Amino acid sequence: MENKIVLDVIQSQTGRRTDGYIRFGQKADGSHFQIPVIEIKGTGDGPVLLVDACTHGDEYEGAEAIIALAKELEQCDFNGTFIGVPALNFDAFCTLTRASVTDGFNLNRIFPGNLDTYSTHRLAATYMERVAKQADYVISFHGGGDVLHLEPIVGYIYDDTEAGHKSQEMAKVFNAPYTWKMENLPFSGVTVQEYRKAYGTIGILPEVGSHCGRLHDREKNVGICLQGVKNVMTWLGMKDYGTPERVKQMDVELHYIHSWNGGIQKLVRRENEIVEAGETLAVLTDVFGNQIEELKAPWRGVVIGYWSVPVIRPGDWWSLFAKILD
Ligand SMILES: [Zn+2]
Repeated sequence: MENKIVLDVIQSQTGRRTDGYIRFGQKADGSHFQIPVIEIKGTGDGPVLLVDACTHGDEYEGAEAIIALAKELEQCDFNGTFIGVPALNFDAFCTLTRASVTDGFNLNRIFPGNLDTYSTHRLAATYMERVAKQADYVISFHGGGDVLHLEPIVGYIYDDTEAGHKSQEMAKVFNAPYTWKMENLPFSGVTVQEYRKAYGTIGILPEVGSHCGRLHDREKNVGICLQGVKNVMTWLGMKDYGTPERVKQMDVELHYIHSWNGGIQKLVRRENEIVEAGETLAVLTDVFGNQIEELKAPWRGVVIGYWSVPVIRPGDWWSLFAKILD
């Protein structure tokens, strides 16, 4: 696809690389709501690959990988076009929050958005029309942010079409230990699903890193994101980064199990553990130390992640527990 992204502000232009912003509203202080965009044209023909991060503002690992990859790509030959959006919800990113500060909306629940209502809806609609629509393939990075831990898992949008099969293949190629057919989501308005519906775009949604790993594993998790994009680029024929050693992969159906009560939560089973139905995953106590809730595995499955902060509120995501598909 020929890339036709038009930037409202060009911050810098060097060689094949252009950095700039797409704007969608001015604030009272004269600054703008805007989306930072990095565009790097390759030296040969090929697909347009869009890689974005921080749809949730506190999930930085993908952002760091995009910035690092752009620095590499501006200096080397590759086919197609690379579009990097390191901080899609820039409002949330700049304030270290998951959702938009201005109107409180969760950007990854309101796609495709609209241009007629709130600023986060306008962000979604602007991004759909002016960026996502121009891409052939999309990698939309997420992670555990400031309150969850997740093992690296790559969501794909599957149906029995060429696009569905390609999305599944793209998730495998990314080379993370878990892949997830995202058809059981209890909510809608998710980026890659809406791009598929609107434009037929083939996309994946990797979840990599969280606040748990930022002290000792920050570079490792950024590296997983970076290598994952490179693996996809090799698969797309954009650049030959070689064939990585394939990790052992498990295809799962991830479920976000919520707590009923709030209190102090303690994990009994940890990431990557296989847990039998009925076994205890976590317990919850009140401030006097009395146990008030016990979370039991509803089926035989694998622990992908959990709420990683000691205190949990009623109704928060407590366990990210998956059914094993193969
Ligand atoms: Zn997220």
